[in-house]
Amino acid sequence: MKSVIRPSSIVNFVVCVLLASAPAWAQSPDTVLVNGKILTVDAQSSVREALAIRGGRITALGTSAEMRKLAGPQSRVIDLGGRTVIPGLIDSHLHAIRAALSFTTEVNWIGVRTLEEALGRVKDAARTMKPGSWLIVAGGWNPQQFKENRRPSQAELVAVAPENPVYIQLGYAWAMLTPLAHKTLGLTSEADLPAGGRFERDAAGNLTGAITGPQPAIVGLFDKLPRPTFDEQVQGTKAFFRELNRLGITGVIDPSGNNMTGESYQALFKVWRDQALTVRVAYSLGTQGSGKEFDEIKATTALLPMGLGDEMLRFNGIGERITGGMYNNDKPGQADKDEYYRIALWAAEHGLTLTQHWNRDASVDNLLTIFERVNQRIPIAALRWSIAHLNDASEPTLRRMKALGVGWTVQDAMYFGGEAFRESVGEASARRTPPVVTAKKIGVPVGAGTDAHRVASYNPFTALQWFLDGKTVGGVALRGPEETPDRAEALRLYTIGSVWFAHDDDVRGSLEVGKLADLAVLSQDYMTVPVDRIGATESLLTMVGGKIVHTSAPFK
Ligand SMILES: [Zn+2]
Repeated sequence: MKSVIRPSSIVNFVVCVLLASAPAWAQSPDTVLVNGKILTVDAQSSVREALAIRGGRITALGTSAEMRKLAGPQSRVIDLGGRTVIPGLIDSHLHAIRAALSFTTEVNWIGVRTLEEALGRVKDAARTMKPGSWLIVAGGWNPQQFKENRRPSQAELVAVAPENPVYIQLGYAWAMLTPLAHKTLGLTSEADLPAGGRFERDAAGNLTGAITGPQPAIVGLFDKLPRPTFDEQVQGTKAFFRELNRLGITGVIDPSGNNMTGESYQALFKVWRDQALTVRVAYSLGTQGSGKEFDEIKATTALLPMGLGDEMLRFNGIGERITGGMYNNDKPGQADKDEYYRIALWAAEHGLTLTQHWNRDASVDNLLTIFERVNQRIPIAALRWSIAHLNDASEPTLRRMKALGVGWTVQDAMYFGGEAFRESVGEASARRTPPVVTAKKIGVPVGAGTDAHRVASYNPFTALQWFLDGKTVGGVALRGPEETPDRAEALRLYTIGSVWFAHDDDVRGSLEVGKLADLAVLSQDYMTVPVDRIGATESLLTMVGGKIVHTSAPFK
């Protein structure tokens, strides 16, 4: 991909040539940031005091005095007051497009520390939303985050929202519905549930009101809920991206996901057309059905060449579910593997990037063998294929990935699911999960992220804290020091590391001359604040391409 010269690069080259011959006044920066602690995340992890921005890009870095000298009468000078600046954070695996659609019409439990407060949010929503409207918490929480350390009961939900149907989803295995929700959806017996769905019973055999089942059953159940209107989806998209800006995020790599159809992308496209995107989005397209995945992929990408788009929105290939037979299946049959190979080879022929969701190292040989077969026909390194999750990646697996040039996107799944994971794999394996230090040593490209929002919180500082202390939301430290990166390295994973997966590491992901001015001024110093407080960090001022997209005091 790096050999491809994008039109934007040509424009930049022309702009640079023109600027070089222009008079000095024309070169003064639009904006100068001075008196800061700028973590550039360049190759040396150098720290600078000030930087200058012109035309959306960084034109100089240095001392405050040097940058002040560059400023002209029109330049905006922002005094950072000694605060820490980082490159805008980039989540390399965030289901952002989907999360955004319902951001203003769902109730959010992300980061809430007590069940009482969580129920309070449902109660507030019952007051502020239209009478009788659905109150939906569609994941992003875990019982261990609550002081009470348990799920809500049906009676508790009825008590806070007696007049509204309420739906509370936990991961992809459980959803609690109030009686009014059951009635509204017409769920009177298990026969009314998506295949595999069951009514949950307590120890005494009484119905709890919850529905359990395998992932497709819960996905099918969610599909029965009313969708936000198009206007609500557009509002949700703008609001969600501003929320990400508040947390210092300036870019996401969206891997498609369950429930995503062509319709699911239209709000995003509208916001992009209106030039109102405040987060750069690189998105891949996946499949939903089983049996006709190749046709599905060919149809959705027929007129969509790899990399089409601009600096705000770009098509990034296929994933994270390519075929049903190779998705959450540790024992794919020969036919499943053959079908996947055909599609992967086709993707390589078309120059497409591919990202694949895979959970267990024990079965990842099925996938890597296919990648290696494709690679013998068409080298895939330049296409930057990747595997998402794979928390227990072994060293041999990482070496095979390195040999192929395949990257690894790592999420803070263990923040929510660590205790259960340790139960299943044992103490020693949990201590090295995920092995990001080993991966870096071997030379595998690694990006950081969250996998929000159904199964995790989108807060990058929660994830950064977890990268550094390995502690679950319940406070249990699982990871050993051998696989714990230092602060600079964790920040690197969340910036220049992540942006590799969008083929954009030459234009963003660090604060260097010529790169896009995507940055965040932090509420506290990420490098020195106690680790257990990193999760509380916010951005006070976020820029995307030199444009301010978020401020709070004192920059408001
Ligand atoms: Zn996934």
